[in-house]
Amino acid sequence: MARLHFQSEAELYAHKAWETLKLELPVDLGLVASRLGIEVHEREFIDDIDGLYMRLPGAPPIIAINTSYTKPLSRRRFTLAHEIGHHLLGVRVSPGSRLLFFDTSKTSRTMMERACDHFAVLLLMPEALIRHHYTELSYNAEQRTGIMAERFGVSAWAMRRRLRELSLPVKNWRRA
Ligand SMILES: [Zn+2]
Repeated sequence: MARLHFQSEAELYAHKAWETLKLELPVDLGLVASRLGIEVHEREFIDDIDGLYMRLPGAPPIIAINTSYTKPLSRRRFTLAHEIGHHLLGVRVSPGSRLLFFDTSKTSRTMMERACDHFAVLLLMPEALIRHHYTELSYNAEQRTGIMAERFGVSAWAMRRRLRELSLPVKNWRRA
């Protein structure tokens, strides 16, 4: 597929991951991380922390994900995708030097953090696949968002947001 222009590096990396790893839904984030040589550690931290990314010279990069019961699986997946974003986007920012990103609910929304979120959204919910499944489920608009959230391995909240971003109408969840 010859695409000459990418909106951002985040888009480029997400696209590359899908192309080179022949990904399927829901995206196998463990595979993406391992192909990039990243060690992923899952453990319980204090609630504030979602995850972190650490790179030290001469050692494999590390991602740690908080497995606290307050972090549902879909949230952990989004955090892991976000941390992989830190790895990819950090390569060019400061090659060879130390990198540490701590992600908490209070992490300030810098350009880097927004780009990592953007990467996570594109990696987990590529536009073409979203449109495909959205159309495929048009007979079931009531439950479409929930079914899609399950298929893509994201929260219903993240899916609604993605659908709105792509101007795809979302049914109001309020029941009469
Ligand atoms: Zn971050």
